[in-house]
Amino acid sequence: MSIEENYIRVKGEVEAVCVAAGRPTDSVTLLAVSKTVGPDGVRDAIEGGAIDFGENRPDQLVEKAEEFPDRNWHFIGNIQSRRIAEITRFATLIHSVYRERHALKINDCAAALGKVQDILIEVNVSGEPSKSGVSPIEAQELLERCEKMGNLRVRGLMTMAPQGDADVARETFRGLRELRDELRGRLEGDSREAFDQLSMGMSEDWKVAIEEGSTIVRIGRAIFSQNFTY
Ligand SMILES: *Cc1c(COP(=O)(O)O)cnc(C)c1O
Repeated sequence: MSIEENYIRVKGEVEAVCVAAGRPTDSVTLLAVSKTVGPDGVRDAIEGGAIDFGENRPDQLVEKAEEFPDRNWHFIGNIQSRRIAEITRFATLIHSVYRERHALKINDCAAALGKVQDILIEVNVSGEPSKSGVSPIEAQELLERCEKMGNLRVRGLMTMAPQGDADVARETFRGLRELRDELRGRLEGDSREAFDQLSMGMSEDWKVAIEEGSTIVRIGRAIFSQNFTY
């Protein structure tokens, strides 16, 4: 199957899972994680209708966003301080904010660019030492600080589930949704309206993530690899 065909198939499956879960088909954004392919792969996915792309390396984000400026480019990778200016310049949404000093710098860069930067707070719901993110307990404090900075708009939360066990993944996703709902309940006005996103679910676990309320699934291999099977 080509990348174009893969994208069309996954998009159809995402919509089918939404319907089965009693959710509107447009309630989930399919983020095509193009980190393993070059511009040709991106072009193939665009042929299939892809609008939102995810990258985890700043240089790739910049290169592809410059080549395909009419698509939405999301940054989903580890944030390094010295790359924040570039990330902020090109990212529609930064999914992986979990350090206050990074948030401060993104805020400064956004102010310099005259924009309000949409971000998500990355949460380590499962507590695995290998995963990045704030603990669920720390999330509220970081959220409150980001809300005060002025040029950040916190759109919600992001997590990665432990791989290999659908039940553990489900618990992780449910935990993120409950945390989002709890934190949202403490916000007011526009902040509350904006705080509605849940970035969760990858090639192996996105169906469970949609059942648990995901609004953005980040899918790489199921679209861009030749022989990925669920
Ligand atoms: C690579 C990556 C994905 C996509 O993973 P697949 O298993 O290939 O779908 C999603 N989220 C993040 C943060 C990634 O780095």
